[in-house]
Amino acid sequence: MTRRHAEIVGAGFAGLTLGAALAQRDWTVRIHERSPECRTFGAGIWFWENGFRVLNAIGACDDALDGAVMAPSWESFDEGGKTIDRFEFGNHETGGRIFCIVRQQLYEAVHQAALRSGVEIETSSTAEGATPEGELIIEGGKRYEADLVVGADGVNSNVRDTVGLLRKRTVHSDGAIRVIVPFTEEEVCEPGWDRIFELWSGPRRALYTPCSRETLYLCLTSLAEDREALQVRVPRDVWARSFPKLARFIERMPEEGRWDRFETIKLHRWSKGRVAILGDAAHAMPPGLGQACGTAVVNALGLATTLDEEKDIDRALEVWEARERVLTEHTQWWSWSTWPITRVPPWLAHAVFNCPGLSSWIAKQRARPSLYVPYGTAGDPRWLPPEMRTKGAAASAVGA
Ligand SMILES: Cc1cc2nc3c(=O)[nH]c(=O)nc-3n(C[C@H](O)[C@H](O)[C@H](O)COP(=O)(O)OP(=O)(O)OC[C@H]3O[C@@H](n4cnc5c(N)ncnc54)[C@H](O)[C@@H]3O)c2cc1C
Repeated sequence: MTRRHAEIVGAGFAGLTLGAALAQRDWTVRIHERSPECRTFGAGIWFWENGFRVLNAIGACDDALDGAVMAPSWESFDEGGKTIDRFEFGNHETGGRIFCIVRQQLYEAVHQAALRSGVEIETSSTAEGATPEGELIIEGGKRYEADLVVGADGVNSNVRDTVGLLRKRTVHSDGAIRVIVPFTEEEVCEPGWDRIFELWSGPRRALYTPCSRETLYLCLTSLAEDREALQVRVPRDVWARSFPKLARFIERMPEEGRWDRFETIKLHRWSKGRVAILGDAAHAMPPGLGQACGTAVVNALGLATTLDEEKDIDRALEVWEARERVLTEHTQWWSWSTWPITRVPPWLAHAVFNCPGLSSWIAKQRARPSLYVPYGTAGDPRWLPPEMRTKGAAASAVGA
């Protein structure tokens, strides 16, 4: 039997994960990436249990999580230092374990898994669009035929737009600057250095996320009209004034920062004919739950597994969307509604997140994506660090 072939647009997390998973299921795969080299933009990333189940399945988990920080808890504080909201990670109330990782490390782990699986990556190759018949059109006029074309080309997806699948694109009022700053040896000896916390100051937010013993990820959120905070060179003094508790870290920030605006994308359908849309191109969301990338890789593995089980591609695409879309839209809604909530005053957030009954219901809704066992991973053992993979240690480790 001839091997089936996929042309994927975009060597981001979604495209590379799908590429690796399909190649591991005997597909031939070519990924087109418009940049001259494969790399990611951003600083750190939250990755939950659902996401690293997928990394485990494609053989990228050990590399991705090597030296990463498994955060014990998250807490948000108002300007007076009063707790707005708090939860411990790693239990069934608040979701699975969460790791904070340097983005480039996560990216390299997935990139290498794709290459090891036999995926071909063509860099400096920009897609202009695709046809529902399964033809990919590259800038300059080159055309490629495939059993399946996949648009994993991010929020501005050309593939999605040429097949007319976009239903709604919401550009939110806020966005974030993301940077990595170094930790000193003394700082990682301070109690609680590995906890995640978020500080509120007017409509500005600062998120402290340690990614390793050497690297701290800072995410500074503001409204688009906050001209004082959004100058070409990051105004460290302005941000330090808003967040004095983080001033020592803010002083170490690089001056070049990029402000990314949050967006939500909804499609009519996730596929048309022989074209499927994946990742941010299909369901971008604000980073409220830290689950956009996790959702992208879950849906990528789900697609590869479904295509392996159901040989009729039209049917497989239908089954895949029916299985994954409800939880994806749940994740989008809760991501939008729970952070950075620049629209909501701290007293109201405090009242909502601490209202008996309501708070545990909200925690359950937030936990659903991370507790989801991604399709194709149900039979896999739970990921444990290599040093814990002995009998007995596994059972007692991290609440397995
Ligand atoms: C501030 C912020 C914080 C975030 N934090 C988290 C977090 O903690 N946890 C989490 O899970 N998610 C987080 N996310 C979301 C996460 O970054 C994205 O969901 C994820 O990167 C999406 O991956 P993707 O592969 O779908 O798209 P992308 O990463 O955008 O990749 C698309 C790729 O396609 C290429 N491309 C685009 N157009 C073309 C074309 N025409 N031809 C060829 N190639 C093309 C691009 O160069 C790129 O390499 C955050 C996002 C933001 C903005």
